[in-house]
Amino acid sequence: MPATADEAGLDYQRCRWCGTPSYRRLLCPTCASPDLADARSEGIGIVTRPPQSSQSEAVVQLLEGFTVQGRVIGALNGAVHPGAAVRLCLHPEEMAFRLCPVGEGPRG
Ligand SMILES: [Zn+2]
Repeated sequence: MPATADEAGLDYQRCRWCGTPSYRRLLCPTCASPDLADARSEGIGIVTRPPQSSQSEAVVQLLEGFTVQGRVIGALNGAVHPGAAVRLCLHPEEMAFRLCPVGEGPRG
């Protein structure tokens, strides 16, 4: 079965009224509307809070604007900084991300 970029995406919802993206909510977090449209994220995001230990999860803001918690696998804790780009990876049992390869960065 060929792997496609779509497989690593993440389903979320976007409010039909105000456009606020949300993840696994029954109501829009901004206007409390229940009228949410299904949408698909590419699964690419930015770490907003690094994991505090090897057991804990990072907080990742997806490019589409909603926030999820997940483990960053394949990286030492100290290597996961706020602002680090991560990509959702296929993992059957938990939300998991990998660090994106960085071609250019602020630290040379
Ligand atoms: Zn709304």
